[in-house]
Amino acid sequence: MNDLNDLYGVTNLPYGVYSAAGSTPRCATRYGDQVLDLALLLEDDVFAAPSLNAFMAQGKQRWDEVRAALTDRVRGPLPQGCAHHVDDVTMHLPFEVADYVDFYASEHHASNLGRLFRPDNPDPLLPNWKHLPVSYTGRAGSVVVSGTDIVRPSGQRKAPTETAPTFGPSLRLDIEAELGFVVGTGNPMGTPIPVDQAADHIFGVALFNDWSARDIQAWEYVPLGPHLGKSFASTIAPWIVPLAALDAARVSTPVQEPTPLPYLAMDPAWGLDIDLEVAWNDDVVARPPYSSMYWSPAQMLAHLTVNGAPTRTGDLFASGTISGPDLDQVGSLIELGKGFLEDGDEVVLRASAPGADGTRIGFGEARGRIRSRDGRSATSSTNEKESR
Ligand code: CA
Repeated sequence: MNDLNDLYGVTNLPYGVYSAAGSTPRCATRYGDQVLDLALLLEDDVFAAPSLNAFMAQGKQRWDEVRAALTDRVRGPLPQGCAHHVDDVTMHLPFEVADYVDFYASEHHASNLGRLFRPDNPDPLLPNWKHLPVSYTGRAGSVVVSGTDIVRPSGQRKAPTETAPTFGPSLRLDIEAELGFVVGTGNPMGTPIPVDQAADHIFGVALFNDWSARDIQAWEYVPLGPHLGKSFASTIAPWIVPLAALDAARVSTPVQEPTPLPYLAMDPAWGLDIDLEVAWNDDVVARPPYSSMYWSPAQMLAHLTVNGAPTRTGDLFASGTISGPDLDQVGSLIELGKGFLEDGDEVVLRASAPGADGTRIGFGEARGRIRSRDGRSATSSTNEKESR
């Protein structure tokens, strides 16, 4: 990855919520290695708040105005007390998550998991997969900011060879490297968001890790979908990259065949050329390419609202695991085939994308360490690993 400061130039300007020692959380942007207090920088109290929600609710025209103003202001002179080094602040959950939906938009991931979960089916994709962006509703209250420890979940597990389920800590704890899309302004009930207007509603994009307990998931998911195998925790990066910063990263999605129904049809459907990396205990084990995702974020939001369901400021929809065609491009450990997470293991997601004027832009990181419920084994597990 590039030098850190190169990833946070004026073409990025992501949004987050920070606190300095002894002060309450407030909205910020990042410029180079500095975290800048937005309320001081722009003299606007909408940013003197512990979440971005009030600003996001102001709508796309205001987002564009603020971004234009920031492009000048971040270069200084800066007001007294506005700038903090990134290492000197605590980052917080950047917005209040309203509703959360998780999609399943990677054909490679869906095919890989179809083969693993339904080995007897000749087609790894279910019949609906290329007609609609499949999703399930997740738990908004379980979304935590990067750096939060993840407690290993317990639940019912039953291997196909076993006659009855047992209860205990998950033995197949996994990650899902995804991107989360944050809805800035929603739609009223009964008025769907068309595909060609979706980008006006999407405030920005953040790295997202949908921690997954495969053994709990495999036993519970039929017929109503994932629940406790997913709902214990999801990690989001502290920085939301504005969708406006990603104009240069727009690419066409892979060819969509059969042609989607008219409410999903886009010509062309746009995806995003964002390169992720998955670091497992400091080893980069995969580099999932977001450009390989079959469904566009605009199609996901259009589908999410096509039945008249409302969305609102702070709604979050995630892409689903990002997996490319190659083994070193997969976004989950079950696809990687090198085992699952042990207590003490740490996973960090990072990403970068093309920005305006030939720059690269960064997404911060989504970091989480696994610990057992009693907290006992984190250290001993790490020591065991080092001694191996
Ligand atoms: Ca997922």
